[in-house]
Amino acid sequence: MGTDLAGEITLSVVIPMYNEEAVISGLVARLRPVLDGLHTEYEVVAVDDGSRDATVALLTAQADEWPQLRIVRLRRNSGHQAALTAGLHRARGRWVVSLDADLQDPPEAIAEMLRLAQAGADVVYGVRADRSTDTVFKRQTARAYYRLMRRIVGAELPAQAGDFRLVSRDVVETLRQLPERTPVYRLLVPALGFPSAEVRYVREARLAGETKYPLPRMIALAWDSVANFTAAPLRLATWLGLGSFLACLALIAFGIVGHLRGVTIPGWTSLFVAVLLFGGVQLVCLGLLGEYVGRIYATVQNRPTFHVGSDTAEDQPATPELSNTADRPAAPEPEANAGRPVAAVRG
Ligand code: UDP
Ligand code: MG
Repeated sequence: MGTDLAGEITLSVVIPMYNEEAVISGLVARLRPVLDGLHTEYEVVAVDDGSRDATVALLTAQADEWPQLRIVRLRRNSGHQAALTAGLHRARGRWVVSLDADLQDPPEAIAEMLRLAQAGADVVYGVRADRSTDTVFKRQTARAYYRLMRRIVGAELPAQAGDFRLVSRDVVETLRQLPERTPVYRLLVPALGFPSAEVRYVREARLAGETKYPLPRMIALAWDSVANFTAAPLRLATWLGLGSFLACLALIAFGIVGHLRGVTIPGWTSLFVAVLLFGGVQLVCLGLLGEYVGRIYATVQNRPTFHVGSDTAEDQPATPELSNTADRPAAPEPEANAGRPVAAVRG
């Protein structure tokens, strides 16, 4: 295991925070009773994502009275998913919950999440059953996003599951081994296919302050999501190339016929044919390059192509295994699992 203290604490709650001075006292007032009420060892890992307001000062004051509150400071603003990564890497709990600071996701659901996890689920998604408090724009863009992502990632993706979720130590260690540079956890975690469960809740309005996800950041997240999971945009060049190459062939025939019938000015046909031919050939070659770049990208991402849930030949439940890392002997690949991560038994 990556962290020495891993497992000593039952629950870690990771909270990325960027300029959240307006919500901290409200957050602590609501979160602490919930966590104290679990009667178990816990820690809260507040990740300050380079805030420029009083976030750190307020957190430090709270930590004086709340020994379970840890503050992890990033040197500069690195973005929500990067702050989550920092929190996941630092968390020491047997289970790790990620929570936004703005109380849009109810901390009270953590008790139910932990119960489901103790009953065997490695992942418990918080699913927004109702987001009527979000703006129409946010709801529509979110709906389009989840629809597109289900097509790309697969049906195992729970709709409307954001970053409020619980994961087990096995999942955390698997995530830590992935050399992903721009992880999008809401897609990555389902793609690993651990046994999962859901807790449904109603999304509330932001407690205070403004959203830290303005449109450019939403677009960046959507693009990371697409580019992390599919090389389809690269394939565009191949299809464009093939299409225009066929069109070029027809036009070349047209040019030659015109030449033979003598209805063109001298020199036109050779230029026309050369331009079309090389244009088409270039696009096809670009597409082919794209195909290989896509494969290199997938290799560099180094995601497990399958994940063994259990093996009757082993006494212990199998630990997460990366099949395609060079320094491990490749496990025999079950046929049904070949090629892509599959959803294991759903809890
Ligand atoms: N956040 C962060 N770094 C950023 C942007 C956001 O750590 O660069 C945190 C933010 O403080 C909050 C969470 O990510 O705890 C989600 O942000 P927000 O609630 O503003 O997003 P929304 O709910 O509007 O999509
Ligand atoms: Mg929010």
